[in-house]
Amino acid sequence: MKNHSSHFAGLDIGGTTVKAVLVNHLAEQAGPLAEVRSQVKDGYEATFSQLDLALDQLAAGAGISRSDIAGIGLDVPAPSSNGVIWGRANLGEDWVGTDICGKFAARTGIPVHMTNDGNAAALGEYALRRKHSGSLLLVAPGTGLGGGFVLPGGQCFEGANGLALEVGHISVPFREDDGELPACSCGLNGCLEAWVSLVALRRRLRLELAKSAWQSHPLNQDECPIEEKAFNLREFAERGDPLAVQIFKQQGFILGYSIADMVRTLDPGLVVIGGGLAETSFRDQFMSWISEGFADRAWPVYRTSPLDPDKVTTKFEWAVGGDAAAAIGMAYAAQELFG
Ligand SMILES: [Zn+2]
Repeated sequence: MKNHSSHFAGLDIGGTTVKAVLVNHLAEQAGPLAEVRSQVKDGYEATFSQLDLALDQLAAGAGISRSDIAGIGLDVPAPSSNGVIWGRANLGEDWVGTDICGKFAARTGIPVHMTNDGNAAALGEYALRRKHSGSLLLVAPGTGLGGGFVLPGGQCFEGANGLALEVGHISVPFREDDGELPACSCGLNGCLEAWVSLVALRRRLRLELAKSAWQSHPLNQDECPIEEKAFNLREFAERGDPLAVQIFKQQGFILGYSIADMVRTLDPGLVVIGGGLAETSFRDQFMSWISEGFADRAWPVYRTSPLDPDKVTTKFEWAVGGDAAAAIGMAYAAQELFG
């Protein structure tokens, strides 16, 4: 029998902050969102102290006692399986190969489930669409490019080793002006993330600004580092700046082109585009560039039904959870698992 006083916490561990959400036994949010510093670079023990702080804040915010928290969902910006983080973690060294789930469960006396941040955000988008009953593919361009796939009913597909949906690192057939494939942060060349991410934006911007056509562009008169220029490029695109528009148009097209192959593999019915672009005023335009790329690569049946041309077979939507999506997803997952 369900215990109606039971609550479930979702803790999203990022590079700089931990975002935390509490839900009740009906998976409804209880109390406000909590946020603490993550301290991941200081190791997992230091981060556990911060997670404890977040749990205290959640309990206080919802007016419950810590002992009412019956399950915790945790997500990390790294591939993991069965509560253990695998290599290539963007975290401190001691996280890799450690039973994070087991150690945090022992510390808190509460069962813990863990996954990566892409899966968590996909679960969050699923949980927030209460009327959605099909599957959902999330593709989220940020600093890198993450993704997640939720099956009908709300279970996240993680693969045999927790390594599924590394959508940022599938290869795309696009080349630089010199004919080379761009290098990706993962060590491979020609990955989608090397075209569609903040990191990719910096590279493209640097290459474009070196061209004589953009010699008098305001960003070439500016002394600030390329990281800052790339970060400001959204504002330029919002004002219709031709260079910014050109770069984002290319990103949108390549993203849509690549999503066509993901859709060919998964046929999700719904593709949610996450990341910070969801908050920009040119997002409708960006979505139209995604559609162009998608139409270039997807067979017509992946766009509309051959039986009813008015029936869309692959819907595209912007993410609705903002940067709280992952925490919401993990609270929802904990309720599903431990409720
Ligand atoms: Zn890669």
